[in-house]
Amino acid sequence: MGLLPIAKVGNPILRRIAEPVETNRIKSVEFQEFIADMFETMVENNGIGLAAPQVSRSEQVVVMECGGDNGFPRTVLINPKIVFYGPQQTEMWEGCLSIDGLQGQVTRPSMIRVQALDQHGNLQDWEAHGLYAVCIQHEMDHLLGKLFIDRMADMSTLTQLQEFETYWQKEPATII
Ligand code: ZN
Repeated sequence: MGLLPIAKVGNPILRRIAEPVETNRIKSVEFQEFIADMFETMVENNGIGLAAPQVSRSEQVVVMECGGDNGFPRTVLINPKIVFYGPQQTEMWEGCLSIDGLQGQVTRPSMIRVQALDQHGNLQDWEAHGLYAVCIQHEMDHLLGKLFIDRMADMSTLTQLQEFETYWQKEPATII
């Protein structure tokens, strides 16, 4: 168990397409410890989601968890696919553990249907809404080498934390 160093924007690994996980490796001690280390790293850095490329491992693995009324349960996504996008869009502030101190508004579908293997290698199929749906899309973008700044329609909302608190605080930032 241990904290993993986080790759920051500019590190080419964040721009690579991640490889699928070989399913016969999921139950190995090494892989299960990697999942635990990803959760520990996410929580230590006050994130609500973390994708494996952010810890310099170019594999299709995501961990997520967010407490509170608008939160979502502990989730592990392995080799995930979004099989349906709902018609409604939602605009949220996004940040990223790989992009220190910056937030920006991103518009994404507010409902998705996801298929992914869980931590035990079992295929799950479910719908996610709101922040949960947005976070899944943000994290799955990491598996495609994409960052939230690539998804911003209006770069004028790109905001450093200090200015965010002064000018935009009405809407809480989501640090994904
Ligand atoms: Zn991110």
